[in-house]
Amino acid sequence: MQKKLNGTVIVTYRCNARCTMCNRYKAPSKPEEEISIETIKKLPPMYFTNITGGEPFIRTDLKDIVRELRKKSDRIVISTNGFFTDRIVDLCKEFPDIGIRISIEGLEQTNNEIRGLDDGFNRGYTTLKKLVDMGMKDMGFGMTVQDKNAPDLVPLYKLSDELNMEFATASLHNSFYFVEAKNIIHDRPMVAKNFEDLVNELLNSNSPKKWFRAYFNHGLINYIYGQKRLLPCDMSFDTFFIDPYGDVMPCNGTKDKEVMGNLNRQTWDELWNSPEAEAVRKKVRCCDRDCWMIGSVSPAMHKYIWIPLLWVLRHKLKFWTKKKYSMYENKIVRDYRDGKVTKEELDKCSTCDLCAAINDGLSDVSREQLKNMSGEEIVAADIKSQMGK
Ligand code: SF4
Ligand code: SF4
Repeated sequence: MQKKLNGTVIVTYRCNARCTMCNRYKAPSKPEEEISIETIKKLPPMYFTNITGGEPFIRTDLKDIVRELRKKSDRIVISTNGFFTDRIVDLCKEFPDIGIRISIEGLEQTNNEIRGLDDGFNRGYTTLKKLVDMGMKDMGFGMTVQDKNAPDLVPLYKLSDELNMEFATASLHNSFYFVEAKNIIHDRPMVAKNFEDLVNELLNSNSPKKWFRAYFNHGLINYIYGQKRLLPCDMSFDTFFIDPYGDVMPCNGTKDKEVMGNLNRQTWDELWNSPEAEAVRKKVRCCDRDCWMIGSVSPAMHKYIWIPLLWVLRHKLKFWTKKKYSMYENKIVRDYRDGKVTKEELDKCSTCDLCAAINDGLSDVSREQLKNMSGEEIVAADIKSQMGK
């Protein structure tokens, strides 16, 4: 029997938001080129599928895509900015067992400033509430933590907890996928302190799942200080991303787009066993970007379970003796506090590159349309015509 994989399907690069940490909205894909049902049918069996964008609900045929993916995946989660409430509710009526993660970047004012969507917080929150009222079980918030919103981290976690929802965190990354190379955390101790508070909230809960999330957030402190990943990265071995053009990639964290093959033109087996795929796997083995995003960490946490498990056991034991988790358990955090390493040295450990030429991963045809109009104008016109129909 074919081994099941973990896949992420980027159904579109179109996006209606204007996030400060991601320029994808300036570099949309052309709808005619976006991944078709025929290509989706060629994907392998998966134990988990994340559908993402851009904003996936911009695609009016998203239901058809989900219908196909359900035939081959044990679990589906859609990541969205939550703006298209009616479309999301409508899809969830047909597929009540899928997961929805709505990115909310802080409490109301912070979220709207970061996301650049008028009323974005209320739209996202209303969508989530509606879905919970419908009885949807697998719901959650996703937050990308940065200097501006770090103080909202614990309040937002508490809000999600009250609603009995998952709370997924990330921090700033740079890559072709985000069309960004300048993201960086400036006040690391302040951001780390907020993560420390969240780790303690999670460890203090009665949910083993949350204890493992505590480990993930501990890893985010390590990441924002630019250190080696706490777990190996095995992307492209049993995990893949596929972009709107059918290009299969190891992940979304690389500086430039890395391509293992193209599913529009090849069969899955041809692509997955090709020399190009092997060459990408070799690059992954020596990749030094040290991302810490749930897409690459969750499979690693399952595969190397004893590492987070030992961490969890150690910290639960500490809790029983009334000792809390401290961010200073990380040597680099102590070293920075003690002046043994400078901010400039830490900045150099990050992927932030102020001079980088940014590869947006677009096809030539999609890039061509940007000659006459901006990405924002193209997508706005696109949504207007959809709404007019
Ligand atoms: S982070 Fe997501 S919602 Fe924000 S601009 Fe990028 S793709 Fe759009
Ligand atoms: S560390 Fe892993 S997820 Fe990050 S860019 Fe390298 S291969 Fe991709």
